[in-house]
Amino acid sequence: RGRVAHYDPALHAALRSAEATLGRRDMERRLRAAIGACGLGLHYQPVVELPSGRVVGVEALARWHDPELGAVPPDVFIPLAETTGLIHDLGAWVLRTACREAASWPPEVDPTTSVSVNVSPVQLVLPEFVEVVSQALADSGLAPHRLCLEITETAAIADLHETATRLAELRRRGVRIALDDFGTGHSSLTLLRALPVDVVKIDRSFVEKVARSAQDAVLVRLVIEAVHTLGLRVCAEGIETAEQARQLVAMGCDSAQGWFFGRPEAPSARLTRSLRAVPVERPELSLDVGVP
Ligand code: C2E
Ligand code: MG
Ligand code: MG
Ligand code: MG
Repeated sequence: RGRVAHYDPALHAALRSAEATLGRRDMERRLRAAIGACGLGLHYQPVVELPSGRVVGVEALARWHDPELGAVPPDVFIPLAETTGLIHDLGAWVLRTACREAASWPPEVDPTTSVSVNVSPVQLVLPEFVEVVSQALADSGLAPHRLCLEITETAAIADLHETATRLAELRRRGVRIALDDFGTGHSSLTLLRALPVDVVKIDRSFVEKVARSAQDAVLVRLVIEAVHTLGLRVCAEGIETAEQARQLVAMGCDSAQGWFFGRPEAPSARLTRSLRAVPVERPELSLDVGVP
């Protein structure tokens, strides 16, 4: 009632097999312990501006390494956290950690470099969510404009009015909002008009077809144009090849993420070096648009 649920057979199967190994109760107990005892970590994937390839931010992606299970993918433990209510503690930990780690990047890193944090629909329905975010910012000292929250269409649709009000309050405080995985759900342009968002992230499943099918390429081009018409920015997710990158550049896409530009990685000196690095010359990206 008044809710939207997505069913993904592949994720369901992954969750079932993990549960079969250990049992759901045990997995829940292990995840709870991990949240309380440094068993979680964050990896960061660069977000680059197009066509320059300059790193303008990173997306924080939660990682859970269990001593017995090994690395459990987020597609398994995030749904588990959502159904057990652990997502509130997990989500707050992710927010605090991402803000703290971004605030402690060395001074050579461009001070406008942003950090994006994924927010579950379950977190967004709680009225206290705005305070959880503000607290993470205050404790870390990170400037609000450097934090971007990624929400999904599912979250938005559950209670559009409530969601819009809460997001507007966060934006009033300077935080930016991205609509994640656009193209997988309803992909409604009406929704884009109704929600206070800054960036629309086109899902990888959409992006990967761009170089393969002319029809899909047209669709992505139209989405980019529509989003631009609404005054918002577009980020393409999951760019794996130069050909995909080139096409997205030609379509006027503002920014991108994907293995072609950089994989998610644990915080390290190497990661911070890559944040302040001069963009790699990518002549292959400039062919279509004539930008050096
Ligand atoms: P997402 O937010 O859409 O994140 C993008 C996912 O695509 C990440 O998977 C990333 O590793 C992967 N990816 C990035 N570039 C490429 C590429 O070029 N090719 C391919 N094949 N994959 C690429 P990951 O880290 O497994 O996360 C999966 C999903 O789990 C995320 O999708 C997000 O919805 C969720 N998630 C991850 N961390 C968190 C978190 O802290 N909180 C919440 N609520 N959800 C999270
Ligand atoms: Mg995301
Ligand atoms: Mg996504
Ligand atoms: Mg996703």
